[in-house]
Amino acid sequence: MRCPKCGSGETRVVDSRDATNAVRRRRLCENCGNRFTTYERVEVLGPLVVKRDSTREAWNRTKLAEGVRIACTKRPISSVRIEALVDGVEAQFIGSGRQEIPTSEIGTAVMRRLRELDEVAYIRFASVYLRFRDVNGFLEEVERVRRPARPSEDQLAMEL
Ligand SMILES: [Zn+2]
Repeated sequence: MRCPKCGSGETRVVDSRDATNAVRRRRLCENCGNRFTTYERVEVLGPLVVKRDSTREAWNRTKLAEGVRIACTKRPISSVRIEALVDGVEAQFIGSGRQEIPTSEIGTAVMRRLRELDEVAYIRFASVYLRFRDVNGFLEEVERVRRPARPSEDQLAMEL
């Protein structure tokens, strides 16, 4: 990235954060000390998720992670390990180069990894997932229960 002031290519990122559909980066020019901001559009990568009713939706890491996090509520599982689990699922499917992935495969992949991580979380996820037979049905249920009239302490803690 070139400095817009002096044209030097010796710039570095000093801060990076998510903005709406973009990543906002603060950059510093090593040559003249100029600080400037760039916005990089986030490409929607990843396969489409095929739901049981054959409709498609974009791959959604946030939704996936949320489902796993709910299953892990009050279990001794760090958020780092949850993120690592989601990373593994993403790597499996996004790395596959496939265009479309059925939700059943995603649910099965999550269950397999959860089983290695924590039995209780696994049973929770599996019972909900198998009942809904569709990971999106489960995730919609997760969204529904996450919007109570009054959030509980647990839910507030999860927001942190
Ligand atoms: Zn400069």
